[in-house]
Amino acid sequence: MKLNLCIDIDGTITEEFYWLDLANKYFGKNIHPSQIKEYDIDKVLGITKEEYLKFYNEHSHSIHLDSKPREFSDLILWHLSNQHNVSYVTSREPKLEEVTKRWFLNYGIPNNDLHMLGSHFKVNKARELDCHIFIEDRYENALEIALAGFDVLLIDTNYNRLPLIPGIIRVYDWLDIYEEVSLYHNRQLQKLIAI
Ligand SMILES: [Mg+2]
Repeated sequence: MKLNLCIDIDGTITEEFYWLDLANKYFGKNIHPSQIKEYDIDKVLGITKEEYLKFYNEHSHSIHLDSKPREFSDLILWHLSNQHNVSYVTSREPKLEEVTKRWFLNYGIPNNDLHMLGSHFKVNKARELDCHIFIEDRYENALEIALAGFDVLLIDTNYNRLPLIPGIIRVYDWLDIYEEVSLYHNRQLQKLIAI
């Protein structure tokens, strides 16, 4: 049996602070990754949401094209794509589809099914895709998705070190993700054999 894996992009496949250098330059700040304890970039930078959105709208292409993938994400994503159904589920706006696909190509990330929601609410998409495991970096998303009954792997970052609830497992890198998915898959197979 194949698993249906839903995988976030920003901060999950990409390094989590991909936006920081450009944002520091633009806003004349000198924020270090260790200072980032929450997800919302405007709060981290001490700016308004409007100021952040103006920056993001002006620079979204270079922010996303220049971001780097996390270590081993490319290799593991190829393995997972060969074994399971992988869908990328991102809050990015649909207008960033071309940039997103170009980035996959530039970094050798497999070009799987892509869902650009333009919203952080991912529960309905998880239902539609009959998701077995959702891989995320945003704490609020992880809670929402787990509370809706899906299993979540939360990739560890400074800004998501908060108490977890049943259904969420904290993972530390892509090797860890591969191991957890394999364990989950084995458990599912055991259940099928037991029937
Ligand atoms: Mg993310």
